[in-house]
Amino acid sequence: MIALRRFELFEAAGSLLYPPACALCGGKTRAGEYLCDECEAKAPRIVAPFCQQCSGPFDGAISGAFTCANCAHRKIYFDAAVAVYRGRGIVRQIIHTFKYDRQVHLRHLVARWLCAAFDDDRLSGRQFDIVVPVPLHPTRQRERGFNQARLLADLLSLRISIPCRPLLKRIRYTTTQTALDRAERMENLHNAFRLRKNANVRGLRVLLIDDVLTTGSTLSECARVLKRAGAVSVYAATAARA
Ligand SMILES: [Zn+2]
Ligand SMILES: [Zn+2]
Repeated sequence: MIALRRFELFEAAGSLLYPPACALCGGKTRAGEYLCDECEAKAPRIVAPFCQQCSGPFDGAISGAFTCANCAHRKIYFDAAVAVYRGRGIVRQIIHTFKYDRQVHLRHLVARWLCAAFDDDRLSGRQFDIVVPVPLHPTRQRERGFNQARLLADLLSLRISIPCRPLLKRIRYTTTQTALDRAERMENLHNAFRLRKNANVRGLRVLLIDDVLTTGSTLSECARVLKRAGAVSVYAATAARA
């Protein structure tokens, strides 16, 4: 945490000395912005029609609320997962740089994208008691140096004035999920998460946070653990959907 604060001071000092530059193209940005207007405009928002449960966009004409085939045929434990952007193009690039190149300052930009989840009807006006980040396995977190979901949850928590509680832990080190199909992911994640010792979520309305939703299996598995422990509702928000 101390390292981060120092980093922020450094950043603040830097912004006084240098004109702000776009994190992608190096072009001129307006004060306090990470991207220039042109790059920002290339970030693809998820717009209707999309699946009410997992935010999966549907490329075609369909009107009204619907649930995608991916969600219709499996048990999903979260009430709804709101993903704001499509995880491709510049969105994918920024999130990758943030996570894998340790460009931790980009959390502010990704968190801003994430906060836009509250524009969505499924979240706006809804009450939450706690914000819970999806945990990384301790080994993975050591390798990366931070848990991106935790950094985003902390910023969102400040913004919406709801406490952030990292109540889940990941007890199974899962290999990368990318190459697995849906059934394999579910199997891979089964019993991967636990509630931390002395954590109590009974009667609470939980907002679960991650950077990216891929199939929704991770969020669903976390929601299953939270609901089994007595959470009354579990909604999820992510900056992007892969
Ligand atoms: Zn730019
Ligand atoms: Zn769906």
